[in-house]
Amino acid sequence: MTAPALRGRVLPTLNADGTRRLIRPRLYVGRTYRWRRSLAIALMALFVGLPFVRVGGKPAVLLDVARREFTLFGTTFLPTDGVLLMLLLLTIFVFIIWMTALVGRAWCGYACPQTVYMEFLFRPIERLFDGPTGKDGRGVRRVLKYGVFAAISVVLGNVFLAYFVGTDALAAWVVRSPLEHPGPFVLMAVTSGLVFVDFAYFREQMCTIVCPYARLQSVLLDRRSLVVGYDARRGEPRSKGKPRPGNGDCIDCGACVAACPTGIDIRQGLQMECIACAQCVDACNFVMNRIKKPEGLIRYGSQEGFETGSPTRLLRPRVVAYALALAALLVTLFVVGASRQEAEITILRGAGEPFTRQQDKIVNQVRLRIDNHARAARSFRLELADSKGGRLVAPENPLRVRGEGHRIGSVFVISPESAFTGGERRVELLVHTEGEPLRMVPLRLLGPIEGGAP
Ligand code: SF4
Ligand code: SF4
Repeated sequence: MTAPALRGRVLPTLNADGTRRLIRPRLYVGRTYRWRRSLAIALMALFVGLPFVRVGGKPAVLLDVARREFTLFGTTFLPTDGVLLMLLLLTIFVFIIWMTALVGRAWCGYACPQTVYMEFLFRPIERLFDGPTGKDGRGVRRVLKYGVFAAISVVLGNVFLAYFVGTDALAAWVVRSPLEHPGPFVLMAVTSGLVFVDFAYFREQMCTIVCPYARLQSVLLDRRSLVVGYDARRGEPRSKGKPRPGNGDCIDCGACVAACPTGIDIRQGLQMECIACAQCVDACNFVMNRIKKPEGLIRYGSQEGFETGSPTRLLRPRVVAYALALAALLVTLFVVGASRQEAEITILRGAGEPFTRQQDKIVNQVRLRIDNHARAARSFRLELADSKGGRLVAPENPLRVRGEGHRIGSVFVISPESAFTGGERRVELLVHTEGEPLRMVPLRLLGPIEGGAP
């Protein structure tokens, strides 16, 4: 049974009846394509190489979600670095807003892994097997093509995992039998499978349907942002096939549409599906050269500039305001980062009764968490500063904490009942650490209200 035909414009990746329309963009090797290709080669080397790079003996990037530890260029951020991580995320967010207001979706067209791998790895391989027409090959060619796609997907899937589990764990998973580690093996298989489905089938739909950045584009861009656009003032009215006196320069050849990896016609104006890859720019320049017209009928410019003919002005109040906000965030990030302490001691909520009675003594259990931000393991010796005769009992003292790790421990404060006033008392926990000044952590201990019981 065929689906009923839809009226009006549907997604460029769908046919009018709702079935998938496979887009095979035609290749025009122009200036921007050469630029993007050079950048893409460098970026692919970076994406694949980064998890293997070591800075100060640690991975350049390791996002250990399971342990909630994030390593970036030699520095490990622990869960207690929440403020720093929030600041970092906010800085990245404001940077994206600023960059989009300034140069539109340059990230999508030039640096996003989806575009980089699709246009400069999978697409060239596809053209190798299917030829420049882009028609899906049949038989052995097809099997071989998808075999190569699958092999590359396994590599890329494993590289992706390396960002989260580290190269050492990944190497162990790769060399050992799947029976020894079925969980990680399933994870590797699923990740590789998703990469394969994405680049062999789903493709540009990741940009046009899934990616939230595309949806945000309409609020982040303004009429003066740099976009790829068609100069309708110069191109219209079109004349089919060749330029005619009195008409515009567009000869309605369709090269710009054939070159577009998301299947849109840029002559209809800026659309959410446009990833600013500029492949239509190269295509149209190629056509302009053939019909001996100046290049740039499709080019970078602002929507306002295309409509009015005014020059593109990138510097404007909004862009300056974002830049100032970004600078303020970067300074704050630097100050907070520089004042980050080598260790953090947090008093946790106690488990069970707030206190227990042992004859005329009151016992308070104090749970604490020690985060060691230093690279080396360190010992933390605990003492009690109390003038009212309390003493500290700790099952392990000093507490040894591994480098860039944390430990949760318990100590007990035993105090005379008479030391409590109004059901509580305040003392200080002294923490001695090698190479750091003495730290004083205030403690509020609960006890019996005069004459009361726990
Ligand atoms: S319209 Fe041009 S810039 Fe936009 S996605 Fe298509 S080819 Fe790329
Ligand atoms: S490639 Fe240029 S000339 Fe051809 S249809 Fe597109 S805008 Fe018109």
